Amino acid sequence: MPMRNVIIRLWSVALRPLEVNGRFFVFMGLLGTLCIVFEPWDSLRPLSLIELLPDLYIVCALLCVLPHKARGVVRWLLSTVAYIVCLLDCFLFVRTGAPMQSSVLRAMLATTPSEASEALHAYVVPSVLLSPVGLIVVLAILHVLLTLRPSLCPTWVSRFCRRWGAPLLLACIPLCFVASFTNRHYMFHRLLLAQRDTELPQHIMDVTIKTGYYTPLHRLWHCWLEVRHDGQTLDALASSVSMAQVDSCSYTSPNIVLIVGESLNRHHLSLYGYPLKTCPYTETLAKDSGLIVLTDVVTPWNYTTEALEHMFSLYSFGDKGFWTDYPLVTTLFRRAGYHVQFISNQYVVNPPKNTGSLLDTGLFVDSTLSSIQFDRRNATTHTYDEALLQDYDSLSQWRTEKNLTIFHLIGQHIEFGDRVPDGWHRFKATDYHRPDLTESQRNILADYDNATLYGDYVVSRILDRLKDENVVVIFLPDHGERSFDGCQTYGRSNSMALNDVQQQYEIPMWLWMSKSYRQTHSDIYNAIKRAKDLPFMSDRLPHLLIGLAGIQSPDYKPSHDLLHVQYNARQARRLRGEYDYDSLCTTTTQ
Ligand SMILES: [Zn+2]
Repeated sequence: MPMRNVIIRLWSVALRPLEVNGRFFVFMGLLGTLCIVFEPWDSLRPLSLIELLPDLYIVCALLCVLPHKARGVVRWLLSTVAYIVCLLDCFLFVRTGAPMQSSVLRAMLATTPSEASEALHAYVVPSVLLSPVGLIVVLAILHVLLTLRPSLCPTWVSRFCRRWGAPLLLACIPLCFVASFTNRHYMFHRLLLAQRDTELPQHIMDVTIKTGYYTPLHRLWHCWLEVRHDGQTLDALASSVSMAQVDSCSYTSPNIVLIVGESLNRHHLSLYGYPLKTCPYTETLAKDSGLIVLTDVVTPWNYTTEALEHMFSLYSFGDKGFWTDYPLVTTLFRRAGYHVQFISNQYVVNPPKNTGSLLDTGLFVDSTLSSIQFDRRNATTHTYDEALLQDYDSLSQWRTEKNLTIFHLIGQHIEFGDRVPDGWHRFKATDYHRPDLTESQRNILADYDNATLYGDYVVSRILDRLKDENVVVIFLPDHGERSFDGCQTYGRSNSMALNDVQQQYEIPMWLWMSKSYRQTHSDIYNAIKRAKDLPFMSDRLPHLLIGLAGIQSPDYKPSHDLLHVQYNARQARRLRGEYDYDSLCTTTTQ
């Protein structure tokens, strides 16, 4: 067969999915475009459109494999599902400001028929039809009409689509496929293989994902996977909690306060030698001996969720199984008789609207998990961290003789400037001699250092409240953050280059003891001073807390407790469960 005939034959085969499913392709394309254009999920809408074309073509090609009658039924089913999901997603966006999220899906799945009916009455109002929701309804009606009466479509339109539209689209599809390949590869792993970000191979993590969950169908499927994952996590934790065992407790430290910071880069603290005075208060305390700075601490994750999960679970890297197979330190404290309170400026139970990451898991927002872990917690978050003091005061009436109090700050979470109230913008762009940075970049750098300075003040307010008590305080953030150190950028990345690792995984950590605690616990005070330069990773924090409390439990490992004589300082510190931090530093600096 001459080459020309082969090409013609291949072209006609490639054209067939569009010819056989022309109307389906056009209407699904318009539906996807409406959702991409009217729901500002991200700023890369043109790229989403590029991704939509090949995705639809693949669906149409698969439809061609089916027998004629079955194809019609499947097409009808797919269209119906697509319209319903897009209507729901767009409706949520119009009414709540955010499209489908796992927390919303979880609530919907738990809703009773009467609650659903009340919600429909409250939210579905005629005016919603004047929004993009109305356009989707009109599109669906038009689709049904043209399916039932194809003759309603003008002949010239059909002719144009066949002669020009389909060939033009077919010519564009391979280009669009190539242009959107990296995102498609990521989505294949996330949605079809149901792998979480933390399970993905490094080469996929290194790719910058441009469009993400770009249609309501992608979002719904992702949310379903998240809800399923949360359910599995909840089941695993529930059985781990039931197995948690406390043999006895000496209440060595009746009052323990844990302050968890956010995105705090150790290299931006004057406590660790940063040239600008970003933490004058804690520096003063360090000189007065009540505060002991640990010099070699890393976090296993540069993501909040994973870092906190490993900070709260008694699992440490190197142990068998997963973090959900082990009890949570909070539940162990409660079982030992401590009153446990969680005062967070990021997580509250069942948040009404979460416009941030789709990936926040339920450890701190799920009501069941919360009731397992905490006796009391605050109900709302605040613009600035200092307001957590009011929550602490209002919860103080519930405190008992033995308390574990956990403060969880918003700290230096991006955007840095938003974390700093008026009057705290002390550092300016002119304070930085960085000719490699623009003024705008130096302003962001100043914002980061101002947020750090303000964070130091918030900590000082917390310690002021505690200074007359018999209390030990532990401070550490979930992870660090890049902030123009040795680079011209900020925020987090998946890179494991040494500079990126140092900014994101090397974290500050200190312990502070009130005067009365120091007087009555000189053994612990001396143990902290001896341990201050030992290597430590924050996934071992629960064992340090349990040791401080004097809880006897088969789940406690003295080899993980920084202050115990049996502490094993030679344990590998695996970042992301994969990269040995100490080897990384040694091999890169050689
Ligand atoms: Zn974080």
